Amino acid sequence: MNDIININLYSDTQTRPSAGMLRAMGEAEVGDEQHRQDPSVNHLCRKTADLLGKEAALFLPSGTMCNQIAILVHCSPGDEIIADKTAHIFTSESGGPAALAGAMVFPLEGENGIFNADQVHESIRGSSLHEPRSRLVVVEQTSNRGGGSIWPLERLQEIHDASKEHGLMVHMDGARLMNASVATGVPASDYAETVDSLWIDLTKGLGCPVGAVLAGTQEFIDAAWRWKHRLGGAMRQAGVIAAAGIWALDHHIQRLAEDHENARIMEQRISAINGMKVDPSPQSNLVFFDVSGTGWDARDISKELRKQEIWIGVIDQNNMRAVTHLDVSQSQIHQAMDALNTLVN
Ligand SMILES: *Cc1c(COP(=O)(O)O)cnc(C)c1O
Repeated sequence: MNDIININLYSDTQTRPSAGMLRAMGEAEVGDEQHRQDPSVNHLCRKTADLLGKEAALFLPSGTMCNQIAILVHCSPGDEIIADKTAHIFTSESGGPAALAGAMVFPLEGENGIFNADQVHESIRGSSLHEPRSRLVVVEQTSNRGGGSIWPLERLQEIHDASKEHGLMVHMDGARLMNASVATGVPASDYAETVDSLWIDLTKGLGCPVGAVLAGTQEFIDAAWRWKHRLGGAMRQAGVIAAAGIWALDHHIQRLAEDHENARIMEQRISAINGMKVDPSPQSNLVFFDVSGTGWDARDISKELRKQEIWIGVIDQNNMRAVTHLDVSQSQIHQAMDALNTLVN
């Protein structure tokens, strides 16, 4: 297999730091982050808390650690987490909720990763000591396995109200929250208002090499700091990487609109290929498509494209996922689509 990848549509995690970002990293003011003395980390946390309208924030190495620490703070062993069955916390975090917090899971059957308030009401356990305690509802904005689908603000408000009626906490996996915000024009803080805790990933569409920021009340963040230390997530001169995050918040948010435009172009190009079907219609930067009508196995398509230095991810033998991001230009999107079209025709 060719290791050189020219057009990388595998994931928005594949970006390399831009020249401006690297310069900002090189010039970062630093201190000891464990002692909360790193000015760049402190600045990034303040900036993110303000962006999300929350009291405080915490810099962590990854989004996965943000999710797991939030679960650890909100849940005691035996407590139950309600989320869509496709949620990243259920499918892609190595069983973290069970292994770390000792939490039970209650997977819901949503539509493209999005469930409703009735489903929350129906999933609440009774007060009998035989039953686990319903404790936390998790929403994913945008829903990754749901095709980058966007939770409408009203739906999130309904989920919030239903959860609070039963005394539950609500957490948002906001790996691609900024994509949702740019796509809809709804401020991130409006989405954030419907949840107790949330985080944004710096390494997805925002294009940083490392890091994610978790936000919530001061009390929540104080508790999260303890877990950050316990899990080995407390760092030293982390300002070098926090500076990339600050750069991204200043320069890489509005441009997410280009990624969404490129995803729509890709949808049109793929839909025009005989036997290919895009589903669902992309609302942000993720494009899921079914290739079964072409007679090709998705794994073979991916392999053949790799020979042309193009990488598109495989979901299973019939389905693929292509992701747009700041390292793929519109002309590269067309180039990749030309190659895909030529290959299967
Ligand atoms: C990528 C992703 C995560 C995990 O983030 P990392 O920074 O890769 O640990 C969590 N949730 C969703 C929806 C994601 O797409």
